[in-house]
Amino acid sequence: MPEAIPDIEPDSDQDFGASLSAAQLAELSSKLDAVYDQVPSTCCAGSGECCVLTDEEMQEGYATMFPLYLAEYVRIAEFVRIEESPERAQRLLAHTQERPRQCPFLGEQRGCTIYPVRPLICRTYAVLDQETIAAAAEQHADEMPEEWIKGFVRRESAMHCPRVTLTQPDKLVRHIHNLISYTYERTMARLSRTVFEQVSPDRRQAVRSQIRRRGWPTRWTWGGYNTLYLTSASWIQGYLKRYWKRAQLNDLD
Ligand code: SF4
Repeated sequence: MPEAIPDIEPDSDQDFGASLSAAQLAELSSKLDAVYDQVPSTCCAGSGECCVLTDEEMQEGYATMFPLYLAEYVRIAEFVRIEESPERAQRLLAHTQERPRQCPFLGEQRGCTIYPVRPLICRTYAVLDQETIAAAAEQHADEMPEEWIKGFVRRESAMHCPRVTLTQPDKLVRHIHNLISYTYERTMARLSRTVFEQVSPDRRQAVRSQIRRRGWPTRWTWGGYNTLYLTSASWIQGYLKRYWKRAQLNDLD
């Protein structure tokens, strides 16, 4: 049984903080919204099933709300601080589980409690049905690398849900192009790198000394990013190395 890692301690040392200024956050939010605006809207039965893993999905290594980009993480963290009660915000920001069975943002009525700022992965989930995926793969076969097409089919086919209906078909062409050509991924990774550059040098250095990497992952999970972004210096020194070693989903650029 691996040794337990304690919850995050709040960062009480102001000099060790890692927040963006209000202006930087506003600029980031508008860039994220510009990306999200390219995703066709859908109408969904709201069962919340895609926000909870089945036994089979747990065994196969799936994760809810994954991948989450660093740029999305900081915006959601700010939303949680403003919109949630102090107790719930504290619980959410202290959450360190990398792969919880249920997304920490799923509400009691099965609704998403961070709906206005939910990440790209939740917006693109089940937008494409199998017929559209197959037709898009065939249509782009001559103009895109085979590996890109295969990756697109594999990823999108795993996100099918019969209870989701497309309501903005006019956005499909651009959306499909973005998915196959990794345009969404590249844009989100670029935005995430700009966030990383704003992290205080002290925190960057403290994290780097434990994880032995120059940068932070641009794609990870809510619990994972909490450990890099919000922890106290003593938590980083005492536990981050072990946490990082056990982590399976941190995706370095
Ligand atoms: S962020 Fe919202 S939509 Fe996405 S998995 Fe969590 S509860 Fe579901």
